Amino acid sequence: MIVGVIREIKDDENRVGLLPAGVEALVTAGHTVLAETCCGSGINFEDEDYAAAGAQIVSSAEEVFARCEMVVKVKEPLPQEWPLMRAGQILFTYFHFAASRALTDACLESGAICIAYETVETPDGLLPLLAPMSEVAGRMAVQEGAKYLERAMGGRGILLGGVPGVAPANVVIIGGGMVGTEAAKMAAGLGANVSLFDVSIPRLRYLDDVMPKNVTTLYSTLAAIREKALQADLLIGAVLLKGAKAPTLVPRTVVAQMKKGAVIVDVAVDQGGCIETTHPTTHQNPTYFVDGVLHYGVANMPGAVPHTSTAALTNATLPYVLSLAKKGWKKALKDDAGLRKGLNIVEGKLTYEPLSEEFNIPF
Ligand code: NAD
Repeated sequence: MIVGVIREIKDDENRVGLLPAGVEALVTAGHTVLAETCCGSGINFEDEDYAAAGAQIVSSAEEVFARCEMVVKVKEPLPQEWPLMRAGQILFTYFHFAASRALTDACLESGAICIAYETVETPDGLLPLLAPMSEVAGRMAVQEGAKYLERAMGGRGILLGGVPGVAPANVVIIGGGMVGTEAAKMAAGLGANVSLFDVSIPRLRYLDDVMPKNVTTLYSTLAAIREKALQADLLIGAVLLKGAKAPTLVPRTVVAQMKKGAVIVDVAVDQGGCIETTHPTTHQNPTYFVDGVLHYGVANMPGAVPHTSTAALTNATLPYVLSLAKKGWKKALKDDAGLRKGLNIVEGKLTYEPLSEEFNIPF
């Protein structure tokens, strides 16, 4: 198969869909890889590294889309890329369709085969291609929260762990999945007083077993979240309803009553956010105030640490890329029910049920 990798064009996105190590694995397996010039320069992999791994370097994304049977990316195709997508071409990337009807329509119209990283599952229902980025974003949420809590950054000027004789900060995390768990570990490790919400009792049981003493697990109700939000110095949104928009769990009326200078990091912003007042921001302009509360809503947080993120992501995607390249999408999906769950759009038809409910498009 001819497989392509392009330079990501989303603001401040330095990750890349294939590393030279992945190129080498594909070429060794007998495939051809086209790499857009400078596709890996955001993480200091140069064209020579890709060429040494066996890729053909091409000068534009247009050429990659025109010649490749599969394009491996990181972020959803942006409007400039929509006209390049072709019927019958496999696009393997994060799409987050639920957050954009326009993207969904463009992909339907293209006739491409859209396999979304975020809905691929393992046999036990985990999300193996969301997990590595969630691990990064969860750990980063606390790092960013700690930074923006500093007075000079606009926050209320509180150290997460306190010091001997001074109470630590209150960190409230909504959602105890991959993001929430990593955030809780980081916040707890820094000595904060952590409240961790989830709606799954088995998950709460597990978290209660593995978390240190300064993490309290709590069942997620609007009332319980409201109570803790009002005490929060740092509030982290980390819920996920698979393939659907995030539910609003903190309304604006609650934000208005939070401590002035408290920080909200809504990691779920890429799925619409679980705090009413959050909207997507960029690494260039990551924060804004609503009612005196500092909001951070960067939708591609792992893009800030592209070395770590690309390695973590491509470790997880490469086995699927190799399978798709070797077998073609029909056989690869037939052989792997979890990969089949990643199929969101195929040749103009929606194939992912939660999305059809979200947009009221026939399934
Ligand atoms: P996950 O599926 O591992 O965890 C989600 C958790 O939310 C689950 O444990 C679920 O039980 C819980 N949940 C569902 N409804 C809830 C409710 N009403 N109250 C409390 N908890 C509830 O998902 P994840 O991998 O942790 O991802 C979380 C979010 O972070 C997703 O929206 C994901 O897209 C997003 N994300 C964003 C970035 C970014 O850069 N902004 C990066 C990675 C992930």
